[in-house]
Amino acid sequence: MPAVPYVPRARLMSAQQLRLLYCSNINNLTLGLATMHKQSIRRVIFYSLLSVFASVTLAQEAEKPVEVDRSIAITFDDATKGDGPFFTGAERTQRLIDSLSRAGVSEALFFVTTRNVERQGESGHKRIVAYTDAGHMLGNHSHSHLWLNRTPTAEYIADLDLAIDRLQPYANLTSLYRFPFLDEGRSPEKRNALRRALSARSLSNGYVTIDTYDWYIDRLAKEAVDADIEIDREDLRDLYVDVIVSSTEFYDEMAQKVLNRSPRHVLLLHENDMSALFIGDLVTELRERGFQIIPANDAYEDPIAGLEPDTLFLGQGRIAALAHESGLPPSELVSPTEDEGYLRRRFESEVSEIPQ
Ligand SMILES: [Zn+2]
Repeated sequence: MPAVPYVPRARLMSAQQLRLLYCSNINNLTLGLATMHKQSIRRVIFYSLLSVFASVTLAQEAEKPVEVDRSIAITFDDATKGDGPFFTGAERTQRLIDSLSRAGVSEALFFVTTRNVERQGESGHKRIVAYTDAGHMLGNHSHSHLWLNRTPTAEYIADLDLAIDRLQPYANLTSLYRFPFLDEGRSPEKRNALRRALSARSLSNGYVTIDTYDWYIDRLAKEAVDADIEIDREDLRDLYVDVIVSSTEFYDEMAQKVLNRSPRHVLLLHENDMSALFIGDLVTELRERGFQIIPANDAYEDPIAGLEPDTLFLGQGRIAALAHESGLPPSELVSPTEDEGYLRRRFESEVSEIPQ
C-alpha cells in the first residue's frame, strides 16, 4: 500500500475572513458607484451581489460542524518517565494535565511502568495521583519494561504481576495491559502463554491501532538540546504533528481496506516532552480531520478488541496484525514515519542540524 503523506489541508476561510470579504464588497460597491456610468454600475452591482452571495454561502459552509465519522483514544506509555530535554518529570506531568484540560480531553489513558514510579519515590507517586485526580485512567505497562522476545516467559509474567501489585493502591485503574515494545510474542508458544496469562488475571490486551515513533522525535530534540542547538518550537511542533497525523491516516486507511470501516482507534504516544508541548496542537489537527477524541475504555469496546489475530506480526498494532492475517505483506504494514533515518533527515532539514 502506498504511503499516505500528510498534506496540510486547504483551510476554509474563517468567519472573520468572510466578514472582511463581505464588508469589502459593500465598501467597494459604495465607493465605485459615485464615479461610474449607468451600465458599469449595473455590472458592478451584479458582480458584487454575486460575490456577496458566494461569501454568505461560503460562510454557511464554514460554520457547519465538521462531520465526525472517526474516533480516537489517546494513550501515553512509560509513565512516569524521568526528566526530558525541556521539562523535569514533575513539570511535564503538570503541563500534560493542563494541556489535555485546555484541549478538552477529559480522559486519557496512561500506561504505567511501575519501576519508573518506584525509582522516583514520592515524586513519581504524586505524579500518578495527579493524573488520576485530573480524571485520567491508568493501565499496566509492566514493572521493568522487559522485552518479551528476550525474557523467559515465567520471568516476564512475574514482572507483569509485580506491576499489578504496585498499581493496586491507585484510583482509575483499568484492566488493560500494554506489552512493552508492543512485543506480544514472536513464537506461537510465547504468544499463547501470554494470552492465557492475561486472561487468567482478567487483563485485556491494551493494543494500539496507530503505532508512532514519537519517542524518536523526543530523542532527536534531546540530542539537539544537549548539543546547545537552538530549537524553533514552531518547527518542532509542525514536524511532530505532521508525523503523528501521517501515522494516524496511514493506519486508518489500512483499517478501511481491511475492515471496510474506521474502527475506534487507539493512538500510541509516550509520556514525554513532545506530548507535553504539543498534545493540544495534535488534538486540534485530529479534530479538524473529523476525529472525535474518546476515552480509551470506549475505544476498547470496538469489535476488534475481541479478536486475537492468528499471526506473529503483532508489533505494529492491531490493524496491521489483522491486515497481515488477511494476507498483506509486512512491507506494506509499517508507516513510513516509523523509521529513524527518515525522522532524522526530516528533523535536520525542518527543525535543526544536529552535530555528529
Ligand atoms: Zn513502553
